[in-house]
Amino acid sequence: MESVSLKAREGGTGQGEADVVRFSNGQRLSKAVPIAIGGFVLGAASIVIPGVHLISTWAIPLLSLGIAWYFFGKRGSVRRVTGTCPACGEAMDAEGGDWEDPMYVRCDKCEKPIQVLLASPMP
Ligand SMILES: [Zn+2]
Repeated sequence: MESVSLKAREGGTGQGEADVVRFSNGQRLSKAVPIAIGGFVLGAASIVIPGVHLISTWAIPLLSLGIAWYFFGKRGSVRRVTGTCPACGEAMDAEGGDWEDPMYVRCDKCEKPIQVLLASPMP
């Protein structure tokens, strides 16, 4: 868990803690590169399938590049956020997800979107 700042849309701020996972560039590459290579290999291999190869030889590599780009874009996640809700003042325990910028979680007490500000940025 690490300390985070919580911010309500209305302007209130509060302190909290979050379960933050950061993926380094190396970790992101080690996920994305095999997917991209796999797509090119699979696309090239599909040249032996009559008819299908007209589309699959370029569609599969293209698709795999898209998937690889998606995994490379995942910089980390903020899994669970606890603290004092800046909107309603109650102790909140919110479920996070994949990191987005800006990152919002929903307070489990008042259902308002709360922005999570990390003390140190995502890689
Ligand atoms: Zn709340």
